[in-house]
Amino acid sequence: MRVGWIGLGAMGAPMAARIAGAGFETVVWNRTPSVAADHAERHGTHAVSFEQVARADVVFSCLPTTTEVIHIIDGVTERSEPDAVWVDCTSGDPRDVRAIVDRLEARGFRYLDAPVSGMTRGAEAGELTVMVGGPRRAFDKAEPLMRTFGDRVFLLGPNGSGYLMKALNNMLFALNFWASAEALACLSDHRVDPVLALEVLNASSGGSNVTRRFVGSEVLSADPTPAFRLGQLVKDVDIAAAILRARPVPPPLLGYTRDLYHRLLDLAGTEADARGAFGAVQEVHG
Ligand code: NDP
Repeated sequence: MRVGWIGLGAMGAPMAARIAGAGFETVVWNRTPSVAADHAERHGTHAVSFEQVARADVVFSCLPTTTEVIHIIDGVTERSEPDAVWVDCTSGDPRDVRAIVDRLEARGFRYLDAPVSGMTRGAEAGELTVMVGGPRRAFDKAEPLMRTFGDRVFLLGPNGSGYLMKALNNMLFALNFWASAEALACLSDHRVDPVLALEVLNASSGGSNVTRRFVGSEVLSADPTPAFRLGQLVKDVDIAAAILRARPVPPPLLGYTRDLYHRLLDLAGTEADARGAFGAVQEVHG
């Protein structure tokens, strides 16, 4: 089976490397060609033209938003081989699913939305969580490939389920991140060492996956991995908020979280890292 990969960014590069490392023939394409050439040299993939990458048996994309995904698909020509599958690992917008399905079906692909959670570190270690929406037949074909970078791969329902799951996951991440920043700031004000406070939270009922797996390594650590960008998180918060707002009674807490994060974005900027965003949470209330 020939695998194609489009988008070798912070997530796409290690995910494509895991597929190649598992022995699958992997061809890659990136908007900036030197990135693909470098990937090929380091990871045993093959840098090819856009036309060639789109002719693989299973094509993966991992781009900033579904807007770029739709734009990319518009450049793909119709194929005649049966059973091709397109797996989009972008943290995308479920409201774009119809446009993607229509475009991919017209070009001869079945489609899975398959965003991931676990950051670059998780991708490198093959320990991502993969949230998949789409038809079972396409899932069965792509699952062995997704298992090279994800140790938990879930088929959640029809197309769009994966994007929706990811957006709500990141909304909850945002909520927990904010609450952790407020709690640790308060403890610091009262001269409780944040490292010690985090240890207590992580051994107690107030701890969460955010305090256990993120705040220590990405905020308090002297050597964080550059995995977090505030703008990327707010993109997912916005997707979740738009869907929640459409409910008959919009949930107040999650709607409020969106407003808080837009104030944070004004203050800290889209490129703020985890430490910068964590610190800026205090200023929002200053
Ligand atoms: P990056 O910004 O690191 O990479 C983006 C990739 O998309 C690059 O390969 C870039 O190419 C390409 N690209 C951007 N715009 C276009 C375009 N118009 N046409 C073609 N290619 C384009 O993003 P990440 O890898 O961090 O994120 C990718 C997705 O994964 C996002 O949806 C993100 O929310 C999600 N995600 C990110 C995580 C993280 O920790 N970073 C964790 C989990 C999910 P070029 O090299 O030319 O710029």
